[in-house]
Amino acid sequence: MGVKVCKFGGSSLASGEQIRKAAQIVQSDPDRRFVVPSAPGKRHGDDQKITDLLYLCHAAAAQKVSIGETFELISGRYLQIVAELELGLDLQPHLDTVRKDIEAGASADYTASRGEYLNGLIIADLLGCTFVDPVEVIFFDEKGRFDAEKTQHAMSSRLAEADRAVVPGFFGSTPDGQVKTFSRGGSDITGAIVARGAAAEVYENWTDVSGLLMADPRVVDKPHTIDVVTYRELRELAYMGASVLHDEAIFPVRLAGIPVNIRNTNRPEDAGTMIVAEADPHVHTGTITGVAGRKDFTVIAIEKALMNAEVGFGRKVLGVLEANGVSFEHMPSGIDTLSLVIEDGVLEGKLDDVLDGLRTECKPDKIEVYPEMALVATVGRGMAHHPGMAAKLFGSLADAGVNIRMIDQGSSELNIIVGIEVGDFETAVRAIYQAFVG
Ligand code: ASP
Repeated sequence: MGVKVCKFGGSSLASGEQIRKAAQIVQSDPDRRFVVPSAPGKRHGDDQKITDLLYLCHAAAAQKVSIGETFELISGRYLQIVAELELGLDLQPHLDTVRKDIEAGASADYTASRGEYLNGLIIADLLGCTFVDPVEVIFFDEKGRFDAEKTQHAMSSRLAEADRAVVPGFFGSTPDGQVKTFSRGGSDITGAIVARGAAAEVYENWTDVSGLLMADPRVVDKPHTIDVVTYRELRELAYMGASVLHDEAIFPVRLAGIPVNIRNTNRPEDAGTMIVAEADPHVHTGTITGVAGRKDFTVIAIEKALMNAEVGFGRKVLGVLEANGVSFEHMPSGIDTLSLVIEDGVLEGKLDDVLDGLRTECKPDKIEVYPEMALVATVGRGMAHHPGMAAKLFGSLADAGVNIRMIDQGSSELNIIVGIEVGDFETAVRAIYQAFVG
């Protein structure tokens, strides 16, 4: 029997009712032995996340302003949860300690971490299982970097002793015993660390959607859910703006070859999305996994006769970028042309210097700048070794009247990226989705 680690996000634990759903999910499968909770999130659109309220308390305390009203909101939320769940747990002394600590000048990290800590106490009580304080099992080094190996050692031995346990998300400790948090959304990372420590068969990440979508729902009407995605595909989609797991959260489980299953607490019957190291590599289905894109790129197109024969031309171009501290995303080239696709944010305030540098160093015949470009990536392991994918993709864009300014197919045949004008962005994403998914 394999172990399953369940991480629940803030919206899955925002109220007593939501926590009950999470508890039912855990209790419905004896393999679900380790639970990683976030702090209570928003119950509705204008609600506040406990973590945000805690940061407000810290800011107020630092200004020597009373934290009273904000802290009342926090303690009110927790006490209401305890009452809704009809627990015998007396949370008041814990709340009093947290309040006193914040007033006495506790650090921002300690203050924020209490959201997960208190929620962890409640959930451990509800499930009747061991509470593991992450300061004892998740470690950062003296420079504040996550110490993966020390953590793995402590975590795995601690979990081996526990039959079932709750490990609050988002924080650990530094060598001098201080609480330190991961970046915002960091409970995803804790979930992955616990999954690695438990050598879990799967890391279940429970949230409020039934998995990752094949396209942005603001662009495509009701896109399908992705059933299976590989880490590499996920990286391509995430880079292109699809919102997925916390980047660093993938790392510990990827290292241990543990699949991640994104699930919906409000629809536990849905299978969600599986994120795996390698889906069957021999199946080239001709389908795509997703389509994603990003706006706000500039293309610098350089033309020079006999560029192909000029030794060192590419180095000079890249030298100019490097000298200006500019990184590029793509560099498609023709015989006498070379284009640089650069993110607007990176180029801000530097375009003129880059152009001057290119003129002086590379002596081109012509340089043109095309602002307001967008990139759209069509991603799918099923595309590799499958003739006709590009034809379908470009055909769909042609039919939709989208002019393609740049094409880049990754050498793995995992993705095809097209550069288009920003105004065509939505049309292009919809056309591609329609062509492949229908
Ligand atoms: N509660 C923390 C945050 O809001 C961490 C998390 O939920 O993952 O960022």
